[in-house]
Amino acid sequence: MEGLAELHTHLGGSVSSDILWTLAHEQGIALPVKDYWDFDRLVTVSDPRGVPDLNALDAIYHWTELIQSSPLAVEVSVHAAIGGAYRSQGITTLELRFNPMKRNRGGERDLDHIILAAIRGLDRASLEYPQVRAGLILMMDRTFTPRQNEVIVEKAIGWAARGIVGIDIAGPRPGGARYDYRQVQPMVETAREAGLGVTIHVGEEGGDMGREEIGEVLEVLRPDRIGHGILAAGDDELMRGLREAEVVLEICPTSNLLTKALADEAAVHDVFRAFVENGVRFTIATDGPEMMHTHLRDELDLLLRIGALTQEELAEANARGHDASFVRGRFRAARV
Ligand SMILES: [Zn+2]
Repeated sequence: MEGLAELHTHLGGSVSSDILWTLAHEQGIALPVKDYWDFDRLVTVSDPRGVPDLNALDAIYHWTELIQSSPLAVEVSVHAAIGGAYRSQGITTLELRFNPMKRNRGGERDLDHIILAAIRGLDRASLEYPQVRAGLILMMDRTFTPRQNEVIVEKAIGWAARGIVGIDIAGPRPGGARYDYRQVQPMVETAREAGLGVTIHVGEEGGDMGREEIGEVLEVLRPDRIGHGILAAGDDELMRGLREAEVVLEICPTSNLLTKALADEAAVHDVFRAFVENGVRFTIATDGPEMMHTHLRDELDLLLRIGALTQEELAEANARGHDASFVRGRFRAARV
């Protein structure tokens, strides 16, 4: 297989515990633990049985986001994540996503400084690893006000020429109620018109509500890609919609198992077979290799072992990852 492509990984889940530990100390951040191994358990999904739900995962993100809440920490994190992905996994197309507004200490730090620090990390990694095409995705959040999300998209467009390649939205549903994706439609349209890629976290969990959200996202936001989208498996109408719109799903098997979005390996198998048999496009990712204690090659091995995909189908999913990447053109792609 050629170099690997990974399109769905969060900055908060992509930096190894030892680097986060040092970053926390360098910045004098008060931690609830004094032992490195306790810290490792704090910032990763350390129990192989996973977490009870997505709220438990958000509690882990709280710590990595707090530690990454400075220009220094963001630069080190981006640089480490890109270099690590190439050295350990041979990843040559990588997109890292993060929410800059969850890293500026409630407005205390300047948002542009945070974003430019990430870009500096990207630039330094590009110098060291010219084989890697890497880009950054700025994330909106479902708990944010429309104005906050609008600011994030304005920043993404403003820094697009420097390596911001797309936008996304994630985060818990306020009050647990169905999220109204229409409220970010203007932001998504503006981003698309500016040439940014659009990927949307949807259809990861939430049963019928999650399926309704996939339908709404397809119709209203018309994204290029969808983060997860696994709830569409087996739903003929949604699978047809995804196929016809040529949306690429970014599927993260181990993450889905750890958050209980998928009950077991048999469920993972069935999701992939449903998508293959219905012509739904997808690519494989980790969601955050360090936090999930997995790596992209582990994901490919898992899918092969449980018979979810053949070697040929895996290669196809990887090639699709390179093709569906928002990182294209400009000097970065020209170097490959
Ligand atoms: Zn994700």
